[in-house]
Amino acid sequence: MSGPYTESLNRLIEQFGKLPGIGPKTAERLAFYILKARPAEAIMLADAIRDVKSRIKRCKICCNLSEEDQVCQICSDQRRDRTAICVVEQPKDVVNLEKTGVCNWVYHVLGGHIAPLEGIEPDDLTIELLVDRIRIGNLKEVIMATNPDIAGDGTALYISSVLKPYGVKITRLARGLPAGSTIEYASGKILTDAIIGRRQLQ
Ligand SMILES: [Zn+2]
Repeated sequence: MSGPYTESLNRLIEQFGKLPGIGPKTAERLAFYILKARPAEAIMLADAIRDVKSRIKRCKICCNLSEEDQVCQICSDQRRDRTAICVVEQPKDVVNLEKTGVCNWVYHVLGGHIAPLEGIEPDDLTIELLVDRIRIGNLKEVIMATNPDIAGDGTALYISSVLKPYGVKITRLARGLPAGSTIEYASGKILTDAIIGRRQLQ
């Protein structure tokens, strides 16, 4: 027993304490909340955690989050403009761009950005799958919506050089986005301006 309570309660406190932004006091409070909760309620939380780990996969087309081995909601939406692909770093960016209500394109989720110092090389991202999609053709535009910071800019430039042989128009979100900020936390208004004012990269 490593804590002041019983073994299983200590274990729950320890697990809550690993979550981001949860200190020891909050971890304890959450654990006691679960202890007092109706069994069905506690089981629902446990099931939700288990389901998210076992059922959420990557979309076969765009690498966004998807249930089971399916194609994600956006890729399966027939009203989407498939001649434009918006490239983002992570699934949360898709959510925030979609909130603007001005995007009708499809996406490609890279799974991060190129950062050699952190050991993240181009091969660690889904760039090859993106190239495969572009090779199929029928594309008018690739919108680079990686974060407006050094790593995001570098990633956008790298990808645009990889895509150059395919002759597709490549744009980058406009600089209304503060340098060093993230797509994830940009406000809807700023993001909308950046989408509308996107400029050609090559
Ligand atoms: Zn998809």
